[in-house]
Amino acid sequence: MFRDITTLLKDPVGFRITITELVNRYSGMKIDLIAGIEARGFIVGSALAYQLGLGFVPIRKKGKLPAETVGHDYELEYGADRLEMHIDAISKGDRILLVDDLIATGGTAGAACKLIESIGGKIVECCFVIDLPDLGGRSRLEKQGHKVFALCEFE
Ligand code: IMP
Repeated sequence: MFRDITTLLKDPVGFRITITELVNRYSGMKIDLIAGIEARGFIVGSALAYQLGLGFVPIRKKGKLPAETVGHDYELEYGADRLEMHIDAISKGDRILLVDDLIATGGTAGAACKLIESIGGKIVECCFVIDLPDLGGRSRLEKQGHKVFALCEFE
């Protein structure tokens, strides 16, 4: 079943509560930038960055960014994919909060972490609105040494 946050985003109270909960968690933490994964990670991540007074960095699918990029290839259940970011988006030692709408197997977020780390970023935490724990993404990221937070879980 596809878990869809567009109805949550459309609801002004629901959207505000979602971002406020995340602001409460992350205000006061030492974070330099928020990185959001295409495409719904842009919506949640940029609203959170705005509220926290932080900059936002987009992590995109292959070939979408206009300037020089660095990329990370990763395996999917059927085939392969590639995430990219601008090579100068992150400075060495920057503390990054990674944001996406949902974690399932953790393949996408794990690849994004590797991409960020490949140019010297430090992952403070991986943040999601929804976790599907049966698909094992949280434990996959935790095994890679990352902290994981999700606002809610669905079977
Ligand atoms: P994963 O790589 O298997 O963890 O899948 C997570 C990525 O795929 C995220 O970028 C999600 O936006 C997207 N995704 C996977 N399953 C769903 C779903 O049920 N609803 C919304 N997005 C999903």
